[in-house]
Amino acid sequence: MANDQLPPEAGVHPAPRTVLDRLTAGADRAARITHTEHLPPRPGRHAPWPEQIRPEVVEAVRAAGIERPWAHQALTAAHALRGESVVVATGTASGKSLAYLAPVLSALLDGSEAPNGRGATALYLAPTKALAADQRRAVRALAEPLGKGVRPAVYDGDTPVEEREWVRQYANYALTNPDMLHRSILPAHPRWSSFLRALRYVVIDECHTYRGVFGSHVAQVLRRLRRVCARYGSDPVFLLASATASDPATAAARLTGVPVAEITEDASPRGELVFALWEPPLTELHGERGAPVRRTATAESADLLTDLVVQGVRTVAFVRSRRGAELIALIAQERLAAVDRSLPGRVAAYRGGYLPEERRAIEHALHTGDLLGLAATTALELGVDVAGLDAVLLTGYPGTRASLWQQAGRAGRTGRGALAVLVARDDPLDTYLVHHPEALFRQPVESTVLDPDNPYVLAPHLCAAAAELPLTEADLSLFGPAAPGVLTQLEGRKLLRRRGAAWHWTRRERAADLTDIRGGGGRPVQVVEEGTGRLLGTVDAAAAHASVHEGAVHLHQGRTYLVRRLDLEDSVALVEQADPPYSTTARDTTSISILETAAEIPWGEARLCFGSVEVTNQVVSFLRRRLITGEILGESKLDLPPRTLRTRAVWWTVTEDQLDEARIDPEALGGALHAAEHASIGMLPLFATCDRWDIGGVSVPLHPDTLLPTVFVYDGHPGGAGFAERAFHTAARWLTATREAIAACECDTGCPSCVQSPKCGNGNDPLDKRAAIRLLTRLLRDAPAPQEEVRPEARPGPPGA
Ligand SMILES: [Zn+2]
Ligand SMILES: [Zn+2]
Repeated sequence: MANDQLPPEAGVHPAPRTVLDRLTAGADRAARITHTEHLPPRPGRHAPWPEQIRPEVVEAVRAAGIERPWAHQALTAAHALRGESVVVATGTASGKSLAYLAPVLSALLDGSEAPNGRGATALYLAPTKALAADQRRAVRALAEPLGKGVRPAVYDGDTPVEEREWVRQYANYALTNPDMLHRSILPAHPRWSSFLRALRYVVIDECHTYRGVFGSHVAQVLRRLRRVCARYGSDPVFLLASATASDPATAAARLTGVPVAEITEDASPRGELVFALWEPPLTELHGERGAPVRRTATAESADLLTDLVVQGVRTVAFVRSRRGAELIALIAQERLAAVDRSLPGRVAAYRGGYLPEERRAIEHALHTGDLLGLAATTALELGVDVAGLDAVLLTGYPGTRASLWQQAGRAGRTGRGALAVLVARDDPLDTYLVHHPEALFRQPVESTVLDPDNPYVLAPHLCAAAAELPLTEADLSLFGPAAPGVLTQLEGRKLLRRRGAAWHWTRRERAADLTDIRGGGGRPVQVVEEGTGRLLGTVDAAAAHASVHEGAVHLHQGRTYLVRRLDLEDSVALVEQADPPYSTTARDTTSISILETAAEIPWGEARLCFGSVEVTNQVVSFLRRRLITGEILGESKLDLPPRTLRTRAVWWTVTEDQLDEARIDPEALGGALHAAEHASIGMLPLFATCDRWDIGGVSVPLHPDTLLPTVFVYDGHPGGAGFAERAFHTAARWLTATREAIAACECDTGCPSCVQSPKCGNGNDPLDKRAAIRLLTRLLRDAPAPQEEVRPEARPGPPGA
């Protein structure tokens, strides 16, 4: 719960406008601002708690300093009390926890008076261990006056064996994560029978993080949970909390498999927010193929952080990597030392992996104003209370509008204005966004994309389910339309065997070990520290060749390692901690074949398709780039075997006539397709909640399956992840934005801000920026108007589930 009491000496609080004016006072600074958005303050709106909330709970909430709930909290609680699953999708610091905690605590108290002694239970799922620990602290503080009626306990990989039994038998609010549910709780469900029998609520916090392949896995884990609960006679209600997202009810229904109501109107008050978009200037340096290079977002953010600290403005700069965070803090400290010797100590770096006490100390120092500047990885996005800053710097677009608002929402406390600045990185998406503010400020937040029907995801969960309780025909509808086909395959592979009316798991090993729910399928490569033999983590098999090849600089939880050796036989990458002054990028060659066209839409003579493909990819070399400047230092060859991936793709074709009309001759064709492919991959994160690294692309002047010039964009995970499908459904909007992004770039022949890609397997050759614009213009002429585009069909849970 936010601490708003600040000592009076905590600092100055100039209006956000004034802060921005001072930032742009320098010689060529003002020109770097491409847009300023002013978001007016919003008053709060209260509502009474529903009557069924127990008076002790209302009293406990009051004792915590909350006299009356905001309207969205009361509304969420009302749904929960009626036994309706509900998702609350409101802004950062809008009090989502209280919205589900009030009904949950109330139910736990109701139950504690039950004659059988056990009473109702609730399960809380968080995407990270740290968040579950924070939640326990919050529940403990709130539930303190409620006495023994509420017994929260964390159950995760760190819970000592002797405590686990206590949790199973006595806790009535178990806080865990989907991994533990998958690996530990469900396989051992008989031990949890009394807990599961009484299970009233399942809370899914930060549910927007369950997207892509990980989200698809979690969706299947939740179906397994519902099946086991049904066996014990319970039918829990799902209470989900999400960052603001479009269509949260649809995504929540896809995740849980049950119908979910949505609460999206945020009734908490908000201070004024001034949001500036900032584009770093071009430098004298040259990148690949002589392209002009912009100043890095890291260097620019470090300058801005320095200036804000000098002004006494409390600021967090969000950065993707731990190393980036450390660099920004370091540069800012050096600059500050030149101004005043006391200032460097008031800036720090923050990243994931800190102990709770360390995090509290940093939060406290920020609250008191002892700390003025913090460069933080996005680990800070989850579970750490740093609401109430004066300014937030976003070093690069964080990938989704949802994250953007989550990060910007860290600035501003009740009744006080705040400043947010998005500093563009040198890539097409960031460049597009700083020149198209409407794409950030006039668009709803993207919906969360996941695909529980992916057979590669489904198969191991059917095995795990069969191991938990033999699978019956009646169970299949729960697991979705793909289940019967996958089941037949599993029988054929002798993983499951039918006996009587049910399928059984036949193997000795644990079925839950078949899959790592955070991985993408295939045997993950273990990343092991050479000197110590310590396992640092795993990398998806699909990504291993490109990310942990010999000589690769590998970031793990923000720390930097150098890969010594990749042993493909044993699926192990040996690494050592290092501090090279460069990053690495793999080069590869890719070919693709169409297995099945599932859907096809004519755009005049052009075709837009979606279906299954097989991608063959070989990593052949890697580049080293200097860290701060991005300058290329050299290329080294690699000797790795090709890999194949069966996945889903969206693709489009154009005809000879269309090429003629677009004045694209055969020499320009390859460069036009390739440039369009790159830019479209760069823009897809705007439409699907993916990272540009989750997807891949191939462009071919004459593809053997279509016999036409073709551009493919595919999901980089076996079986697909839902991103290509999303791209297919929003293709007119997606490709229109792609065309505009290329056309708006001020470079002559292509640069990282438009058509060059940092992950291009061909060294960004050939690329033809002008021809790509003409090609996309022609393609889009016969496309449906973007607003008429079919919305992706809502897919709630399967009937009868
Ligand atoms: Zn450009
Ligand atoms: Zn390329």
